[in-house]
Amino acid sequence: MPQESKKGGIAAAQGDGPVCPVCSSVAGTVLGRRHEYSILRCGDCSLTYKYIPDLNRDLTQSLQDVTYRESTLIARTRSRLVRKMAADRLRILQGYMKSGRLLEVGCASVEFLALAQGAGFDVQGVDSSKMFVEFNRQNGIDVEHGRVEDFDFPPHKFDVIALFHLIEHVEDPVGFVQALGPLLQQDGLVFIATPNLGSLTSRIFGRRYPGFVQHDHLTFFVEDTLSDVLRRGGFDIVNSFSKEYSHHLFSSTLGFLGDAVRARRQLPSNTLPGDDGRPAESVAAASGMAKRTLAKAVGGLPSVLGFFLYPVLRPVGLALERTMKGHELLVIAQPSRPK
Ligand SMILES: [Zn+2]
Repeated sequence: MPQESKKGGIAAAQGDGPVCPVCSSVAGTVLGRRHEYSILRCGDCSLTYKYIPDLNRDLTQSLQDVTYRESTLIARTRSRLVRKMAADRLRILQGYMKSGRLLEVGCASVEFLALAQGAGFDVQGVDSSKMFVEFNRQNGIDVEHGRVEDFDFPPHKFDVIALFHLIEHVEDPVGFVQALGPLLQQDGLVFIATPNLGSLTSRIFGRRYPGFVQHDHLTFFVEDTLSDVLRRGGFDIVNSFSKEYSHHLFSSTLGFLGDAVRARRQLPSNTLPGDDGRPAESVAAASGMAKRTLAKAVGGLPSVLGFFLYPVLRPVGLALERTMKGHELLVIAQPSRPK
């Protein structure tokens, strides 16, 4: 059965106009429209969010299924970049925890889980995409199909729960993290990565920020708004980071250009060159081998440019990371201790 968010925000949004999915405020400024949806900034908690009328679990899933298709899976499994990002995330985690029971929600094609398992973590993964789950089951890692709320995990089962590029896809972020707290040990950790709306590139593109285009991105976080969600959900912030990979500048620019071309031609957009190295899907969806080959070449361009220009771009990336203006926002938090 589809489960809708219990929180007022989503229910109230049905037919009643935009309501902030974090603080339920109806005060908001429209930043612009992307496709058929408005992007708003909450007047109370400052969250940037997409207003999708009648948003529920089924609609969220169908938006995700438009984005994550077989070509995404193939591109991910071939991508050195995806594996490097997984290795970086594991290194960050190991700064806090060397082993333990780890759950990854939205584990996609399990690059991170496989590395974590190899490093001694006892891993488990869930993903709401049937395609990813079927692929993973062939890889011998315990992956279940569904959303985390579908499973009856015993209390305090996990030492760490990882959510990489997941929190921006859920309808009720506070209710979601609230549900994770009881699954963790008291000194357990939640480890989150999400696109950083406070990044240099998002500031450059402003209302044309390419991250707004991806259909299944429902919320857009900066360090403060993500920390706010975690605190409301019963967590204390342990640390925040930002990461900037060399390909990010090019993937953002490509996304911006692709969006401009689509707008001019009034073509539908399915997805962008990804936050994590995904190819330009909307182009790939066009019929014909030539178009698919072109899409593949264009989709791979940010990684190629990022590789060759790494020595030039790395110092810039480090400066961005130090000032929390990297493309990706990472936060580690733990359940609040009873006062
Ligand atoms: Zn709000």
